[in-house]
Amino acid sequence: MHETSIVNSIIKTLEQEFEPGKLDKMKAIYLKVGKLSNIEPRLLHNAYTANQPCGSKFHHVELNIESTEIKIKCESCHHITQIENYRFICEKCDKPSKNLIQGEEMLIHKVEFDD
Ligand SMILES: [Zn+2]
Repeated sequence: MHETSIVNSIIKTLEQEFEPGKLDKMKAIYLKVGKLSNIEPRLLHNAYTANQPCGSKFHHVELNIESTEIKIKCESCHHITQIENYRFICEKCDKPSKNLIQGEEMLIHKVEFDD
């Protein structure tokens, strides 16, 4: 499943990034998932929960997923528009644009630890 492999790669990234002792103190993970990323936050959350049986390293770690809006930056007037209903048109000058600056990403935004 798509979401399961994403969960696995997130965990792998965190395991490479932090020492085991630090991982034990991890409290929460904050993800940003773009609305164009083809990732469904609810499914990702389910995959995460299913993947963390009791006693596993991450089972006490809370996963927070923030869905980020789609934004384009107009090539003509450099105005940034938040896209609704997949209409990729600059709200200022009405020109179509595919110059995405946000909305396709899946990134680990923040990780919280117990003191
Ligand atoms: Zn424009």
